Amino acid sequence: MEEITCNIHMHTTYSDGFGTYSTIIDAAAQAGLDVVIITDHNVWVNGLEGYYSRGKKRVLVLTGEEVHNQDRFPQKNHMLVLGAESEVAIYASVPQELIDTIHQKGGLSFLAHPDEVALELVHEDDISWVDWETAGYTGFELWNNFSELKTVSHTPFQLLLNVLDPSRIATSPSKATLERWDSLLTQGRHLSVIGGADAHALRFKIGPITKTIFPYQYHFSAINNHLLLPEPLSGNLQQDKKMIYNSLAKGSSFIGYDLPASTRGFTFSISNEEYIANPGDTITLFRGATIQVKLPAPAEINLIKDGVLLYSSRRLDHLAYPITEPGAYRVECKTEFMGKLRGWIYSNPIYVVKEN
Ligand SMILES: [Zn+2]
Ligand SMILES: [Zn+2]
Repeated sequence: MEEITCNIHMHTTYSDGFGTYSTIIDAAAQAGLDVVIITDHNVWVNGLEGYYSRGKKRVLVLTGEEVHNQDRFPQKNHMLVLGAESEVAIYASVPQELIDTIHQKGGLSFLAHPDEVALELVHEDDISWVDWETAGYTGFELWNNFSELKTVSHTPFQLLLNVLDPSRIATSPSKATLERWDSLLTQGRHLSVIGGADAHALRFKIGPITKTIFPYQYHFSAINNHLLLPEPLSGNLQQDKKMIYNSLAKGSSFIGYDLPASTRGFTFSISNEEYIANPGDTITLFRGATIQVKLPAPAEINLIKDGVLLYSSRRLDHLAYPITEPGAYRVECKTEFMGKLRGWIYSNPIYVVKEN
């Protein structure tokens, strides 16, 4: 299996971001990312996808879209659309129709920042998903870096500190979204999650000074998706795009908060006598199976089955755990950073089923 890093959810001057595709490619190459997926608001930008080189580093740029109903007030229901390969913003007023259309076009639909809080200090509403009767979406954006600013800024002073130093922000995905995900997994649903930057590279001008806050460089070293591909990227756009979107759809990936320490090399598998399953896979329980977890550095490891904490360790870099029950198993790891225990790794689930 080939592990690649992929940052998802960013805005450019095609919508309300302040950087261009070129700024993003520079920052991605500098951060050592393999893939970026740009998702401007309500516009699918065609013709810019491809491989770009900066020095010795090659970055694959893919273009999706973040769609919402622009006639709805307050604003709700943001949807990250990947791989639909055409404009779908015209369907945004009926969320179910939007989801169905995306899937008819072979695309993926991730509910963006599904459980946000408002940031009263600057009169920013929460832009949560509210049409929960909808079905058939691919999954959730479990952890949105920019959206978490709203959760962790309770006073004007905190807000100022967080804006000046974004590395203070990321603590954990939304607890409400984690619970929602676990509840759906417990009902037997297969639901993949991604981490999103929601990068805008906002630019402020105060007198002669222009300052970029939340620059792309920051986001690209923070919340990334580590995709586990069946083979290395070939350099062929269509072939690689298909492999990347298949991996995101299935959940062959984990979310890594790479700022405290790189999460590259994390593995989570479940093996029976015949087969080794990785995130996103389904495996049959014969008499039993064994979970194996390996971390690139010691951290708190939490093993969760159908929303229930099975096991928690402090500061281990490996774990082997025998299981005898079917269910959706996933791993959360936490590590200390800037004086706080923070979420570090969130794996997609491995689905364990009974023998027929
Ligand atoms: Zn959004
Ligand atoms: Zn966004």
